[in-house]
Amino acid sequence: SAKKMGRNCFQFYQPAMNEEAQERLRIEGALRKALEREEFVLHYQPQLDLQSGEVVGMEALLRWQHPELGTVPPQRFIGLAEETGLILPIGAWVLHSACAQAKAWQDAGLPPLRVAVNLSARQFSQPGLVDEIRGALAQTGLPASCLEIELTESLFMNDVQQAVTLLHELKALGVTLSIDDFGTGYSSLSYLRNFPIDVLKIDRSFVSDIAHDAEDAAIVASIIALAHNLKLRVIAEGVESREQLDYLRRNGCHEMQGYYFSRPVAPRDFEQMLREGKNLGLAPLRTGTTG
Ligand code: C2E
Ligand code: MG
Ligand code: MG
Ligand code: MG
Repeated sequence: SAKKMGRNCFQFYQPAMNEEAQERLRIEGALRKALEREEFVLHYQPQLDLQSGEVVGMEALLRWQHPELGTVPPQRFIGLAEETGLILPIGAWVLHSACAQAKAWQDAGLPPLRVAVNLSARQFSQPGLVDEIRGALAQTGLPASCLEIELTESLFMNDVQQAVTLLHELKALGVTLSIDDFGTGYSSLSYLRNFPIDVLKIDRSFVSDIAHDAEDAAIVASIIALAHNLKLRVIAEGVESREQLDYLRRNGCHEMQGYYFSRPVAPRDFEQMLREGKNLGLAPLRTGTTG
C-alpha cells in the first residue's frame, strides 16, 4: 500500500492519482449535465438493400452537441460513459429516442424503416434490459419488428449461458438481433449456432480494402457465404466506393451502409432524403453471373 512504501513514494503518487480522479469527475459531471441539458442527439445513417437499391433501414448513432466543443463523436465519450455507468441513462435515452423517431416517420407516411440501436456491454449486463426495450416499444408504439439491436461479440464472452438466455428473451420481444463489427471479435463461430442471431454486420476494416486486397476480398465473400448458409441477413458497413459496392452485390451481400451513399446525418436531413426517394439507382443484376 502507499503507506508501506513510505512518505516519499506516497507524495510522489498522490498528485497524479488526484489529477486522474479529478479528470474523471469533471467528465462525469459534464456527461451528467449533457443529459440534463439534452445535448445528446442521434444522427441516422441509411442502410440500403443491394437488390432494390432502396433505403430499408437506418442506424442510430450518438453525438454530443457540446456548447463549446461542437459535435463530439461517440468514441470520445462512450468509454467514459461506460466506466461511470452513465451509459445506462444515456443508452435508455438512445433507445427511446430512436424508437420515437422511427415511429414518427412511419406516422408521417414515409416508407416504414427498421432502426438499429447500438448496445454497450454495461447495458447488456443490466438486469432491466428486456423491460427497458419492451417499455421503449410500448411507449413509442414502434412495432418490435422495426427495432434492430446491435451487439458485439465481446458481450458474449463473460457468461455464455447468461448471454444465450438474454438473447432468447430479446428475440421473444420480436426485435431483430445483429452482430456488429463481425469478424473482429475473439469469440468462436460456435455461438452462431447457439445464439438466436438474425444479422451479421461485416466490419468496416474488411470492407475498406476489398478492391485491392485479395485476402480481405476472400474474407468478405466467406462471411457473406456463411450468412447465406446459416440463413442470416448480411450487411456490409463502411462502404465508400462503387468498386466495393459492386463486389458486395456480385457476392450476394444483402445490404450496405456507408459514406458511398450517405454519412450519418441529422434527422431533418435524413427525412429530406426519404422524401426525395433517394436510392442507389442500381441496374438489375444479371442472373447467373458469379464472382
Ligand atoms: P458502429 O456501431 O460500428 O458504427 C459505425 C461507425 O462507422 C459510425 O461511427 C459511422 O459513422 C462509421 N461509418 C459508417 N460508414 C462509414 C464509411 O463509409 N467510412 C467510414 N470511415 N466510417 C463509416 P460513429 O458514429 O463515430 O460511431 C462509432 C462507434 O460508437 C459505433 O460503431 C458504436 O460502436 C459506438 N456508438 C455510436 N452510437 C452509440 C450508441 O448510441 N450507443 C453505444 N453504446 N455505442 C454507440
Ligand atoms: Mg453499430
Ligand atoms: Mg460496426
Ligand atoms: Mg463498433
